[in-house]
Parts: sequence; C-alpha cells; structure tokens
Amino acid sequence: MNQARTVLVVGGGAAGNAVTILLRRAGLAVDLIEARDDWNATAGSGITLQGNALRVLRELGVWEQVQASGFGFGSVGITAPDGTVLHVARDIRTGGDDLPATVGMQRPRLQRILIDAVRASGASVRLGTTAEILDQDADGVSVRLSDGTETRYDLVIAADGLASTTRAAIGITDKPEPTGMAIWRIAAPRPAGVVRTDLAYGGPAYIAGYCPTGESTLYAYVVEANRDRASIPAGSYADEMRRLASAYGGFWPEITRHITDPAKVNYTWFDRLLVEGSWHRGRVVLVGDAAHCCPPTLAQGAALSLEDAWVLAQLLTGSDTWDDALFQAYHERRIARVRPVVEASVQIGQWQLDGVRDADVPGLMGRTMTMLRELP
Ligand SMILES: Cc1cc2nc3c(=O)[nH]c(=O)nc-3n(C[C@H](O)[C@H](O)[C@H](O)COP(=O)(O)OP(=O)(O)OC[C@H]3O[C@@H](n4cnc5c(N)ncnc54)[C@H](O)[C@@H]3O)c2cc1C
Repeated sequence: MNQARTVLVVGGGAAGNAVTILLRRAGLAVDLIEARDDWNATAGSGITLQGNALRVLRELGVWEQVQASGFGFGSVGITAPDGTVLHVARDIRTGGDDLPATVGMQRPRLQRILIDAVRASGASVRLGTTAEILDQDADGVSVRLSDGTETRYDLVIAADGLASTTRAAIGITDKPEPTGMAIWRIAAPRPAGVVRTDLAYGGPAYIAGYCPTGESTLYAYVVEANRDRASIPAGSYADEMRRLASAYGGFWPEITRHITDPAKVNYTWFDRLLVEGSWHRGRVVLVGDAAHCCPPTLAQGAALSLEDAWVLAQLLTGSDTWDDALFQAYHERRIARVRPVVEASVQIGQWQLDGVRDADVPGLMGRTMTMLRELP
C-alpha cells in the first residue's frame, strides 16, 4: 500500500538514520539529506545508550554490532570527589530484561553502524545538502534543495537536530533554552578498573563522570556552570578541563593524564527544548532533538530520538492515510513519555544549580526509568 509513498528525511543523526531504515524496510522511497559532507562520521567522544535506546537499535537490526563495539554494564557508582565509592545502584533495564541496562559506545562507532545500515537500506543519500524551500499543499511538499534540484514528496521528516531550520521554516517558534550548565568531554583510554559509569557529585564541578565505551576506551566528562564561550579560547580547552578534573581522585588521575590536546576536548552548553502543541504542520513532521531536547543528566536524548523514529515509522507504515489525525496520534504517543523525561532531566540539573542537598535524585531517576520500561 505504501509502495508509491515518497519521504524526505532532513538530517542524518540518530533520529533521521533510524526512521530512514525503518521506512525503507516497509518499501517506501526515502531520500535522506545531510548538511555535513562527512555525515558526522568522526564527531563526538562517547554516548551512554540506555536499554530503551538499545531496544530500538535491535529493531533496526544493528544490536549485534552495537553489542560487539560497545561496553555493556548494569550499575552506576556514586563516589566522593576523592574517588571513594559511596554507593553502587543497579541500573533499571529500560529496554526489557533481555537487553543490558546500559551500553557505552564511542559516538563515531554508533554513527558508522547507522550510516552502514542506511546505505544498506537502499535509501538515496545526499551529503552536504540542505532544504532551501519547502512549499506544501494538502497532499505533499515541494522541496528545493541546496543543490538546485526540486522534488515533490508525500512527507518531509525534520530530523535536523536542536537548531532545526526546518522547525522554523514551518512556523514553529519554540527554541532551545540554556539550562545554566555546560560540559567538558573527552575520549580517553579506559583504565582496566573502569567497568561502569561512576559519578562524583561535589568538588569544583557539579558532576565528574566517566563511562566505558569499549575494551580500551572511555569518555570522561565534567559538568560546571555555563560560561560565555567567547571568553574561553579554543586553545585552552585541555587546560580548562584538566584543571577541573585534577581535583578528583580514584581513576581520575589516570584519565586526566590524557587531557592534553585542546582539539580533542569538547565544550557544550546544556539546553532544554520541548515543542508545545503538535509536532507537525501539514506534511512536515519533527523527530528527535528538533522536537525536544533534554540535558544529558539521564542520558536519554538519543534514546528518545530513536523512539520517536520507531513510533512514527510504525504509524506511517500502518496507515493508508497520512493526515492530521495520524500526526496528532504520533504527538500524543510521544509527549506522554517525552515530557516527563525532559522535565526530570532539567530538574536534576536545577537541583544542583540551586544547591538543594536533600533532593530525591534517586527517587526521580527510578520513577522515570521505570516508566521508560513500557514500550514507547
Ligand atoms: C553533551 C551531551 C551529551 C549527551 N549524551 C547523551 C547520552 O549519553 N545518551 C543519549 O541518549 N543522548 C545523549 N545526548 C543527546 C543526543 O546527543 C541527542 O539527543 C541526539 O543526538 C539527537 O539526535 P537527532 O538525530 O535528533 O539530532 P542530531 O544528532 O543533532 O542530528 C541532526 C543531524 O542533522 C544534520 N543537519 C542539521 N541541520 C541540517 C539541515 N538544515 N539539513 C540537513 N541536515 C541537517 C546535522 O548535521 C546532524 O547530522 C547528549 C547531548 C549532549 C549535548
């Protein structure tokens, strides 16, 4: 029934890649355009994938590769700044009991796996390409691409991330807002004893943490109050991160030795976004960070983006009629799950910014993660 349907996916991150793979599997014709020439194939340090992200990656047919490339674990340690382990909590298996609670991965490895799956799906991919003009009527969208071509589609899926220009182009005015925190991140060799995420609260940063991403790798991060980016010279990034990290004990001295190259240190502000009201206008619909974004205090952003892709693909491939009711159903299914995660992620950071010492962080995390065990 869907053989003749044509879809343009704007953006080849987790959400865009996932929805492309699923729609191609159902036989739809999918064009994916990605602004970056390199498809972000080498960008980023590490990512924490919770079970509910793994559940979608299994649906995409890439779970075995993720499992082989990443580092699975099932608990999180809370440490004092000196490295003393204060508490070890079992992670909730948000993807069900037949998947690990958590897998740490190198981001470029995850992106490579998804790129290969998109290529294998037979989707048409144009890199270094954006959508210049979207002109829609009741039945579809005429799109002028930056390469000068013009094509008509039955549907455009905006998966172009937090700063989505497609979102703005269809008249949705919600914008990301900084939460007040920022994070320094680096990929480094994994000390043999690091076999789970450990988080130190307190010390000169709000959080100092690390996550194993493979047999020989981890990514480490330090969270502090955000600062004017212009006031931090790029050449000082390693010095800045090392200054904060060197206050921590345990495995940190071993990790800190590798914080030397400013080009390998990433500095990012935390943002919050939740598009209010429906996530579509006519035949253009938002997925992933284009629709919502949470600070990574629960490590749920990519997980929710993958879930969006899965739910939208289910609805699109299960219906002959692509109309307001279908896109409204997509929004209703997603907002009930996305809103509590965004709010909890922001709340956890806000408690730290406000210095609330008796906040029930474990309780909020437990309730949120238990909710995520349900199928999206
Ligand atoms: C510091 C930090 C740490 C995080 N850690 C985690 C974590 O551990 N676990 C987790 O689950 N989530 C985490 N996240 C969140 C996660 O990175 C995002 O939620 C996820 O990447 C969103 O995927 P996406 O596909 O919607 O958007 P993106 O990954 O941003 O992909 C958007 C794509 O669209 C492309 N694009 C942009 N504009 C255009 C255009 N006009 N035309 C065509 N292409 C375009 C971009 O180049 C990009 O490839 C973290 C986020 C941050 C900031």
